[in-house]
Amino acid sequence: MNFNEYPIDSLMYITNRPEIVFTHGKGSWIYDNNGKRYLDFIQGWAVNSLGHCNDGMIEALNSQAKLLINPSPAFYNEQMAKLAGLLTQHSCFDKVFFANSGAEANEGAIKLARKWGRKFKDGAFEIITFDHSFHGRTLATMSASGKPGWDTIYAPQVPGFPKAELNDIASVERLINAKTVAVMLEPIQGEGGVIPATREFMQQLRELTKQHNILLIVDEVQSGCGRAGTLFAYQLSGIEPDIMTLGKGIGGGVPLAALLSKAEIAVFEAGDQGGTYNGNPLMTAVGYSVISQLTAPGFLEGVRSRGEYLRTKLLELSEERGFKGERGEGLLRALLLGKDIGNQIVEKAREMQPDGVLLNAARPNLLRFMPALNVTTEEIDQMLAMLRSVLDSL
Ligand SMILES: *Cc1c(COP(=O)(O)O)cnc(C)c1O
Repeated sequence: MNFNEYPIDSLMYITNRPEIVFTHGKGSWIYDNNGKRYLDFIQGWAVNSLGHCNDGMIEALNSQAKLLINPSPAFYNEQMAKLAGLLTQHSCFDKVFFANSGAEANEGAIKLARKWGRKFKDGAFEIITFDHSFHGRTLATMSASGKPGWDTIYAPQVPGFPKAELNDIASVERLINAKTVAVMLEPIQGEGGVIPATREFMQQLRELTKQHNILLIVDEVQSGCGRAGTLFAYQLSGIEPDIMTLGKGIGGGVPLAALLSKAEIAVFEAGDQGGTYNGNPLMTAVGYSVISQLTAPGFLEGVRSRGEYLRTKLLELSEERGFKGERGEGLLRALLLGKDIGNQIVEKAREMQPDGVLLNAARPNLLRFMPALNVTTEEIDQMLAMLRSVLDSL
């Protein structure tokens, strides 16, 4: 169908979108209304961990849709229990609460920390977060985020989120007082431009928070579920946080998120937390398929080796074109361009003929790569060849 035949005007404006309509996808490829195909290195914003329309996910969706879609979160269902069991088996956490989006999981983490503070720390409620962090688009998670400008768009903010600097332990220490209940961070800042917290910083944070009896919360909505080459990014630094949130990759594209905690932190009482769709079997069945595939023997090794391959190739490209190198973990990486040409590259790459490539400039001076975790090295080579031809045309 022609772009103009779609009732696009009925959609509320939220951002500028290109004049194409996506219709279907498979693996690393997505197709638009003109039948043009694109090599997808965005994957729904690091969401489609297994690429478009993964067979295992389709099978889980189809078979669960015929069995039970939603008995209400006031009852147990088989799929929520199975997925929770899988997550506690593969992490340092004991308890799981399912949510529908990363922001909602983070809201849950904030509530859980505040509840714990009320119970055990004399009403302490402040959560130290970081400049350039991103935790979601609800009022509280926007307040927790360190995105420039977000303190004023929907002012007044939710209070209680003082900001420190990533990888600067003194900046965290300075903010700790009697009202502090937790420190919350992304082990790898995703929207901020793929900036990893160093292993040393994560260890210092764990020590500091233990020393002050405050909680350490990791927002692994983007860095978790295999993206960093380990099932969870906190595992890269050999520490155990108290609370973790998951989103994006856990559902492989469907709306699913999770809040996990150590047993002694799980202090919600009856009625404190909930939500109509939370833990519904349709989505948790898909999550079970995704996490089972990510934890199958050899899968994460494959992510690490393809991440290393992408890293090497990006460094080569950087050297060749006089860029500023690359950074990231696993298959969440950024190419540092050294100048503000990111958005121009993204546009040209998408408009290429006959095939396009979907890239993202998380910041104007870098490109972020978040392909499917089962992307092939051939597809990585294809993306790089297409990127080179875009760079040639600038
Ligand atoms: C995307 C993201 C969120 C928000 O997730 P939504 O599902 O869009 O609400 C929160 N934290 C991080 C680190 C993210 O990357």
